[in-house]
Amino acid sequence: MLKRYLFAPGPTPVPSEVLLEMAMPIIHHRSPDFMPVLESAKKDLQWLYQTKNDVIILCSTGTGGMVGAVNNFFNNGDRVLVINGGKFGERWTEICQAYGLQVEEIIVEWGYAVKPDIVEKRLKKGKDIKGVFVQASETSTGVYHDIKALASIIKKYEDTLFIVDAISALVAHDLRTDEWGIDIMVAGSQKGVMLPPGLAFVSVSEKAWAKAEKSKLPKFYFNFKKERENLAKNQTNFTSPVTLIIGLNASLKMLKAEGLKNVFKRHERLANVTRRAVQALGLELYSKESPSNSVTAILAPPGIDGQAVYKNLREKYGIIAGGGQGKAKGKIFRIAHLGYSDRFDVIIAIAGIEMVLKGMGHPVKLGTGVAVAQELLID
Ligand SMILES: *Cc1c(COP(=O)(O)O)cnc(C)c1O
Repeated sequence: MLKRYLFAPGPTPVPSEVLLEMAMPIIHHRSPDFMPVLESAKKDLQWLYQTKNDVIILCSTGTGGMVGAVNNFFNNGDRVLVINGGKFGERWTEICQAYGLQVEEIIVEWGYAVKPDIVEKRLKKGKDIKGVFVQASETSTGVYHDIKALASIIKKYEDTLFIVDAISALVAHDLRTDEWGIDIMVAGSQKGVMLPPGLAFVSVSEKAWAKAEKSKLPKFYFNFKKERENLAKNQTNFTSPVTLIIGLNASLKMLKAEGLKNVFKRHERLANVTRRAVQALGLELYSKESPSNSVTAILAPPGIDGQAVYKNLREKYGIIAGGGQGKAKGKIFRIAHLGYSDRFDVIIAIAGIEMVLKGMGHPVKLGTGVAVAQELLID
């Protein structure tokens, strides 16, 4: 037997409490059995999102939420800015282009965060930009982009929406949707929210709803106006993924019991400990600045293939981490500390990294990273 430890940046582990709730018999999505369930999930999601806006719940993966964030608010030929600093930044460009938007990219070197003044300079140049797209946490590079600074710039432009892919950042970072002025924020169930894959969430500001009125792009499955009307009745437009929404209620209840501040503190702490422990092993972070609190991207040491580290962690020890994506493939491996993650998860991950690297012939003094982690995790 090889016991599995899921430390991937999605899917993430689901607590037994949540799994048990999801084992209940299927209820009908148009029956009074279900409406209170959706009502409670809807309210708790607003709490997690720190918003009074609607948070649309879709039956899709996170990418479906990204698609909906494009096809519901824009028109063919609209000029938009995409901050592209990794694989998921590229995805924004691909989706916008698939819907006929004119994309102008701000290319950010992988491992770095966008400089907000570059965005400000571009917006000042002409009032033609209809939207700015970014990742909060770019999961492929382990970098957090400064959402607060970007929001403070973009909100000055009446005709420009700020769209954030927070699929891996929600729960791990304090994202103040209303206070900062994020117009559209996308998240997914299988990351910080501790659920199986299958739900996407999208918050929509009043500024964005006004834009939705003028959007003529094709919409059928991802039709946010219809979802909004249904949400007001504690329904979804099509059959609700009832099991996942029951699970969502259970996981949000757990997060509420912990408290939002403590949830963020836990993620900050686990991320910080992971970084310090791998650095104690002489390893370098792939994120050269602004490291994410959801995932740590680690450069494989010279002469060691990052993909082989990832593979050995899984095959020899049952640790499911993340490999490198796109041009980072082979150079890095990634450890998530997201969602249902606590102190001993970090210790297992660090111990596994030490054992794999030593097994691959890299000089490692076993216990070096683990000791640093333990020291920092003593309460
Ligand atoms: C996981 C992830 C996605 C893609 O989500 P899917 O659920 O696989 O569609 C998009 N953006 C970021 C930042 C992610 O971490």
